[in-house]
Amino acid sequence: MNEFNLIQRYFASSNIARKDVIIGIGDDAAITQVPENQLLATTTDTLVEGVHFLAGTDASAIAHKAISVNLSDLAAMGAEPSWISLSLSIPEADETWLQQFSDKLIELSDYYSVQLIGGDTVKGPLSITITAQGIVPPNSVLTRSGANAGDWIFVTGCLGDAGAGLDILLGKLEVSDSGARDYLLNRHLCPSARVLAGTTLRRLATSCIDVSDGLLQDLQHVMRASNTGAIIHLDKLPISEQLGTNVADLKQALTYATAAGDDYELLFTVSEEHRTSVLTALDNYGIDYANIGMMTGAVGKVDLRLDDKPYELEVSNAAGYLHF
Ligand code: ADP
Ligand code: MG
Repeated sequence: MNEFNLIQRYFASSNIARKDVIIGIGDDAAITQVPENQLLATTTDTLVEGVHFLAGTDASAIAHKAISVNLSDLAAMGAEPSWISLSLSIPEADETWLQQFSDKLIELSDYYSVQLIGGDTVKGPLSITITAQGIVPPNSVLTRSGANAGDWIFVTGCLGDAGAGLDILLGKLEVSDSGARDYLLNRHLCPSARVLAGTTLRRLATSCIDVSDGLLQDLQHVMRASNTGAIIHLDKLPISEQLGTNVADLKQALTYATAAGDDYELLFTVSEEHRTSVLTALDNYGIDYANIGMMTGAVGKVDLRLDDKPYELEVSNAAGYLHF
């Protein structure tokens, strides 16, 4: 199977056909129509075997993660995903692998209504790069830089599950309950992107970021961009029952929830004025959230509290994953 047959067989057909795709896969570049008076959001993320996923991970889980990490970045900007392109480096044209990978890619493209419009296919170490593009009205862009002292800090969903799922795979965490184990593994292998939450927060949140590197690290990105500090009430962190009941103690649960990455929940800030509207909107869509603290004027300082008392968490400074 040569490169062209491979693209034709696995990626060129059987995908949704959006009206705003003028030219999709097959020419030298894709041509798309950006709606009038809207902005284009573009993001890229690469997943490398051995760095972002363990060798031997299912092709469908890799596809799932590759899509989710990108759409999560669009969600964090308040953008609605439209198009993706895929740069694939694979050691060999393994048909089973390609079938599983492309099936999941197409299934999730349908789910999120995004169209695969192009890419590149090369022989090399296993690595997947997706570029995702989306649309956002000019006054609706969410950024890291808009938070103010006094804004409430919220997070969607639960924190720490994906980190626990990874530790199960690495043999560092033992979870005997099979339901909880499957849940945690799934949160690590097949994260969802909070697309609906992102568009719901438009014009309501003062800042937003997706939690990919761990709560404290991503919070610090917002603090730095917004020139603020933060108080975090650790007892208010949303910790799933599956995580909470399967770790040794509260400290271990808090370590997962604050420092482990890959949850792809949204961390966002809201002014007191818009607080009720935000919560009503999220409730209407059935999106889970938790109020975990408040931005402060103590620039660069994270004040961790447990039951209103100062709390030292050793991980707090070196929290999160850094490549270099
Ligand atoms: P070129 O040599 O002009 O760069 P390619 O042979 O790399 O073109 O690709 C041919 C067509 O297939 C292009 O439209 C490209 O965007 C698309 N394509 C290549 N690889 C992929 C892929 N993995 N997924 C989706 N589309 C792809
Ligand atoms: Mg060409």
